[in-house]
Amino acid sequence: VTTMVFITVINKERKDVMTVTPWLAPVVWEETFDTSLIDSFYKMQNITVATTVFALGKYVQFLKDFLESAEKHYMQGYRVHYYIFTDQPEAVPMVTLGANRSLTTLKLPSSNRWQEITLRRMEKLEKLIDTQMINEVDYIFSLDVDTKFYGHWGAETLGDIVAVIHPGYYSTPRDEFPYERRPESQAYIPQGMGDYYYGGAVIGGRVEEVHKLAKICRMQLDMDKANSIEAAWQEESHLNKYFLYNKPTKILSPEYLWQDFKSKTDDIKIIRFSQVIKNYAEVRPNP
Ligand code: UDP
Ligand code: MN
Repeated sequence: VTTMVFITVINKERKDVMTVTPWLAPVVWEETFDTSLIDSFYKMQNITVATTVFALGKYVQFLKDFLESAEKHYMQGYRVHYYIFTDQPEAVPMVTLGANRSLTTLKLPSSNRWQEITLRRMEKLEKLIDTQMINEVDYIFSLDVDTKFYGHWGAETLGDIVAVIHPGYYSTPRDEFPYERRPESQAYIPQGMGDYYYGGAVIGGRVEEVHKLAKICRMQLDMDKANSIEAAWQEESHLNKYFLYNKPTKILSPEYLWQDFKSKTDDIKIIRFSQVIKNYAEVRPNP
């Protein structure tokens, strides 16, 4: 009599994508991690994850889908504190939050230039961490609001300082990345340099590390302003410059920042978070 033993091998390796950077930071892709193992570790630590979003002007319309989908998919089982920056606190939708999840609305004046709104996010993030977070929060994510969660986004995303690969450029040659190329800007990255093109819609990490990032980017943005130069992609350009010299300790694959208008490619096994389609002319205060 032969006994047959069936062993299920869960392959935690992906051969079709880069799962580690040249400086040995993990790149998080579906099938490269074990959620229950990660949860067993982070749940013991009883962490709080702050999540900041800006919803100024017409962008308040995106809050409902953002929050409702986050309540389904984002950091389930963890203590989450949303901080919503808005010029219209009354327009923040009533979304039922799960256990251990809370929301604070912070009033901020809007601006008649969208570039100004996105630029100011670094400064506001820096201040918010200074004033309320250092002792209350372990990790923080700063996310775009014109987005929706479609799939699991959990503790596998946590790390000291976390960046996401921009979905528009993950197979683009380095020299075609839309980095700021004018040496006059503090965001300048010369040809031949740079690792990835990171998306400005997701910044994360331990609160002290995100504070350092926000502070340095804010200072560089101030210097550019004093020199009357605005980087090609505003704070995203400065973020890319920062990450060139301060390498992220974890990188999220484009599963964590997709764009609804893009069709899925073979290496994307799951879309977790995605930018919704928006009519720029309709939602932005200026062209
Ligand atoms: N934003 C806002 N109001 C505006 C423009 C931008 O609240 O009028 C905020 C919002 O959080 C948005 C982020 O800035 O998600 C980045 O701007 P946007 O999404 O327009 O940039 P894109 O993702 O299209 O590059
Ligand atoms: Mn956006």
